[in-house]
Order: sequence, then C-alpha cells, then structure tokens
Amino acid sequence: TDTDTADEAVRTTCDDATTCKRFATSKGYWKDPYIQYFVRSVGERKAPEINRGYYARVQGVNHLLDAFIKKAECDCQIINLGAGLDTTFWRLKDENLMPRKFFEVDFPTIVARKIHNIKTKPPLSKPIIETHSTDSLLLDAHSLDSDRYCIIGADLRDISSLDEKLKKFQLNPELPTLLLSECVLVYMTPSQSSNLVNWAAETFHTAMFINYEQKERFLKAGWEHADALDMMTIYSMLRQDDVARIERLEFLDEKELLQQLLQHYSISWAAKDKLNLGNGSLCF
Ligand code: SAM
Repeated sequence: TDTDTADEAVRTTCDDATTCKRFATSKGYWKDPYIQYFVRSVGERKAPEINRGYYARVQGVNHLLDAFIKKAECDCQIINLGAGLDTTFWRLKDENLMPRKFFEVDFPTIVARKIHNIKTKPPLSKPIIETHSTDSLLLDAHSLDSDRYCIIGADLRDISSLDEKLKKFQLNPELPTLLLSECVLVYMTPSQSSNLVNWAAETFHTAMFINYEQKERFLKAGWEHADALDMMTIYSMLRQDDVARIERLEFLDEKELLQQLLQHYSISWAAKDKLNLGNGSLCF
C-alpha cells in the first residue's frame, strides 16, 4: 500500500543518518568507536558542510543531554524516540553518565537490525551484559531488555501501544525523564507529533524533551518552559577551540552554504520541573 511505501522511505532515513555520522567520524569530526559496528564501510565522501552540520547536531544534542543527566545525577531515564542506529547508550556508559535506564523506540524492522548487530558484535553486547545483574536478559529478534538498556519496536504514531510497551519494560513515570527525537517528528503529521509531545507532558512531571528538526515545527503544548535555537546560533556557541579544530579538517569554500544549511535547522527543547532539578533553565 501507499502507507507501507511511505513508511519504508522513512525507515531508510535511518541509514542516511548513520552513514553520514560514520563518514564524519572517519574524518575526525568527533569520536564514535561504536558506529562502525552498525555500518561497516565508510561509504562515499560527503560534502564538508554536511559533515559540519552533523558535527553541530551531535555536539548540540549531546550538550543538552549530558547537562540533563548531570543535573539529575544519573538518577533519571532517557527515551530516544526514533533512535535508529544511534550509539548514545555506549557513549554514556564510557563517560560514566549512564542513566538508570536508557530506552529506545523505532519501527520493528529497524529494531531487529539493531539487535542483530548487538548480538553478533561483542563490543556492543559486552557493555549491556556488564551492566545487567540477573540472568534474565531479554534478547529476541524484536526487543532487548536489560537492567539499563531497552530497545522496543513500536510505531510512535500509536500512543497507547507505545505507552503500554514502555511500561511493560519498567518505564518509571516518577523518574526525571529526558525524551529525545532527532529528525523524527518531521515524518509525522502535525497532529501525530503533537499527540506524542502531549503524551510526554502528561506522563512525566519532571522531564525535558529535546527535538532536532526544521525550525518551523517547534511544539510546546503542555510544557512549562520551551526554547529553540537555530543551528547557526548553536554552532557559534559550541566550544570554539573544537570548532576551530574541525574547521581545519576539510577546506570549505563557501561559508554561506554552511550558514544557509545551519539556519534551516534548530534544536528545540521543552521542560517540566516538579522536582526542581533546574532543568527548566538548561541552556548553552
Ligand atoms: N534519531 C536517529 C538519528 O538522529 O540518528 C535516527 C534519525 S532517522 C532520520 C529517523 C528515524 O525515525 C528512523 O530510524 C525511523 O525509522 C524512525 N521513525 C520515523 N517515524 C517513526 C514512527 N512512526 N515510529 C517509529 N519510528 C519512526
């Protein structure tokens, strides 16, 4: 059907993101020792402005994510919505910033691929086994559930089944919760994405929602604090010694091209803070 074809097209965006990140890390824009286990080859060259755009996106999102985890002193949970083949779980483990539990949701076919890679690559599976205390680790074709990491196959447009699955895997609405959607809501209708954002606002009393996307789609329904910055601004707020380092990696002829690209995208975030963690004032 048309819907199946459209959903399949959305699923392939996951590979685009991963191959772009794989290429940028192979050039030294940032370090990700785990991404190679999800895409084997570095693939064809990407334009420098694409690499810089991914650099700004990854650093910008990581900045907010790490700030939230530190405020909560790791006593929190993370839900990555439409996580694709993202490797943040392993980075947080290596940096001693692991939340109580890290959840990921994506379509079942993407999840099956991710789990297959985890099962067959010891550098991926080891940290999961190491952080698991009992022998009841669930690792089948469509879901993974350990003490600290959980991957769920679900359609984010079906809120009741999403909610049910997350609760089945011990999602705790009382814990400070960070929700992340990177280039995901854009593939839904405005009413589908606002349902998701509203569900998050209703479910958690202390939470932050980080969304990376095109500027126009900023939503804040049901949230106490909300902010957005375009990626050009974020780029100018990142650690400038590191920005200078990556700007030397590849020659970029037309600075205007990068500016135009970065101005099209933004990171928006919204917060609720019943526990007074101070997450309403997190910024750059
Ligand atoms: N967030 C990851 C990143 O930044 O690397 C992946 C981004 S990719 C552009 C979009 C992801 O959202 C894909 O993995 C896709 O399968 C997932 N996605 C989009 N719509 C979805 C839906 N309705 N339910 C579950 N996953 C969805």
